[in-house]
Amino acid sequence: MGLEEKLPNGVLLTSVEKLVNWTRKASLFPATFGLACCAIEMMTTGAPRYDLGRFGMEVFRASPRQADLMIVAGRVSQKMAPVLRQIYDQMAEPKWVLSMGVCASSGGMFNNYAIVQGVDHVVPVDMYLPGCPPRPEMLIDAILKLHAKIMDEPLNARRAAATDGQRTELVASSVRYGKLPAPVGTPEVNVAALEAGHR
Ligand code: SF4
Repeated sequence: MGLEEKLPNGVLLTSVEKLVNWTRKASLFPATFGLACCAIEMMTTGAPRYDLGRFGMEVFRASPRQADLMIVAGRVSQKMAPVLRQIYDQMAEPKWVLSMGVCASSGGMFNNYAIVQGVDHVVPVDMYLPGCPPRPEMLIDAILKLHAKIMDEPLNARRAAATDGQRTELVASSVRYGKLPAPVGTPEVNVAALEAGHR
């Protein structure tokens, strides 16, 4: 049970992009930041029963400058929105945002003037997690899905975006490795008809 078993010859070949993404996803530090009842589930996730420490992220950072993951746990009031944005701006690049629960993602049942109808009006969101409240298992699942997305990120796009003050969308693997569109002028092929034997 060790690296020796995985690498019997002691040689490992990979790309810089994969190595950097692996280190980023394996050292996500969440900011200490809870807004409403969803935050209780977030705190439970960090406790021993669910043990976020397995992913190297059990210590929620008290300073946004030491954090690179914002878990928006709870509804965002209009009054809190500028504070949330300021914390996001103070976090280290590259950074990610996970919107936890229906309130953070869409305003939920609070369809009124006091609540922001989705935190993506304030900061770019990388992962949405439904539920009211989502269970700790669901939050862990969303974090693992975010890990998978981070592993699939192009290195240069994010660096360029961080330099000019913008943020690049994560490239989903389904898009990145999906089929390319057919060149212009290529006749359309009815695949269903071919498979059914109508040639
Ligand atoms: S989604 Fe449910 S649990 Fe989470 S903040 Fe809204 S009302 Fe509270």
